[in-house]
Amino acid sequence: MNARSTLERPNANSAVLTAADRCDMCGARAWVRATMASGNLHFCAHHARNHIDALRLKALEVVDERHLLVED
Ligand SMILES: [Zn+2]
Repeated sequence: MNARSTLERPNANSAVLTAADRCDMCGARAWVRATMASGNLHFCAHHARNHIDALRLKALEVVDERHLLVED
């Protein structure tokens, strides 16, 4: 028997980015993180929209959590 379906995965639904992650360009809360060869870049929703296409081409990994964005 294999009862893996009930296995708890505490991080499965957690966002990667937190309120401590700020946009590198304006300091607002970051919703997108791009991992570049040289390090991580963070972007708020506004700046992510401007740069996401270039980031997806250049970045090693892009974490896009704009779907979690809620207006305060
Ligand atoms: Zn920004």
